[in-house]
Amino acid sequence: MGVYEELIKANIEVRHGEPMALHTSFRIGGPAELFILPKTLEELVQALALLRARGTEARVLGKGSNLLVNDQGLLGAVISTEKLTGSAISGNLVHAAAGESLTALSRKAGERGLSGLEFAYGIPGSVGGAVVMNAGAYGGEMRDVLTSVQVLTPQGEIRELDADQLAMGYRTSCIEKEGYIVLSARMKLTEKPREEILALMEKNMNARREKQPLEYPSAGSTFKRPKGYFAGKLIMDAGLGGMSVGDAQVSEKHCGFVINRGHATAADVNGLIGLVQERVREQFGLELECEVRRW
Ligand SMILES: Cc1cc2nc3c(=O)[nH]c(=O)nc-3n(C[C@H](O)[C@H](O)[C@H](O)COP(=O)(O)OP(=O)(O)OC[C@H]3O[C@@H](n4cnc5c(N)ncnc54)[C@H](O)[C@@H]3O)c2cc1C
Repeated sequence: MGVYEELIKANIEVRHGEPMALHTSFRIGGPAELFILPKTLEELVQALALLRARGTEARVLGKGSNLLVNDQGLLGAVISTEKLTGSAISGNLVHAAAGESLTALSRKAGERGLSGLEFAYGIPGSVGGAVVMNAGAYGGEMRDVLTSVQVLTPQGEIRELDADQLAMGYRTSCIEKEGYIVLSARMKLTEKPREEILALMEKNMNARREKQPLEYPSAGSTFKRPKGYFAGKLIMDAGLGGMSVGDAQVSEKHCGFVINRGHATAADVNGLIGLVQERVREQFGLELECEVRRW
């Protein structure tokens, strides 16, 4: 029996050759050999144990909003956290499952008069992805509110780690390096008038609509901010706004975003990323590091 059959037998939802373009905000990516959708933590743990026993590589997918998946597709398994949702709020403490929408969670907290996640309103990721990336915006980031995270280790052990054990830095944490899977996250927020919180969220969202090319598929900021600079400004100053490879384009609205104008492939996006890095290096002697994860 293959892994696919074993998963079916265990009653765990699995698809063969699922197009990753359906699961990434870039709308790009070839088929995943196995696409697994656990509904519970037990199913997730069981699926991983089956994959480990077979030596099948497993990648974890949140909302795919910081990912570029290659056009040929992926061997092995992609485990989606899409169905691992839910959150509970008690006093000013929040506990959210990895697959929960970060924007929905920040809205829910705001409605309850809990402040701290205003920055996250409009970030289209999952809670798990936001912890891994230490997602941030408008002066806030996940590490400001995170108290602890429940992870599954590569050995299949469930552990609760304090936020200060996660080496959270600018768009980074130790989670990827350690091969942990985030199962859930705990956050501590502060009480504040609900109207104030919701007004700030609206203000942030309006700033996004005004400045970001939200009308096109993308993965948000393509590059990290080099120390002391803004990637978008460097790219604009290098005259690269609007530069294209195939249907991938440096957004003219916000040069820090590479957008998919319709039928861009991963090869187009990668080609454009390479060109932008080369031109910025030539003109300013600076290295632009990719923020987007590439599979
Ligand atoms: C329009 C737009 C605007 C954006 N604005 C911002 C912004 O303001 N600030 C910001 O920081 N980001 C922003 N992003 C990028 C993105 O939304 C964030 O990086 C987000 O945190 C990614 O979460 P995700 O669930 O989509 O992760 P994915 O893209 O699915 O995955 C990203 C990485 O995290 C890993 N991962 C995901 N879930 C887990 C898990 N449970 N356990 C272990 N590893 C996991 C994946 O393997 C992958 O390596 C934006 C993106 C878009 C498209």
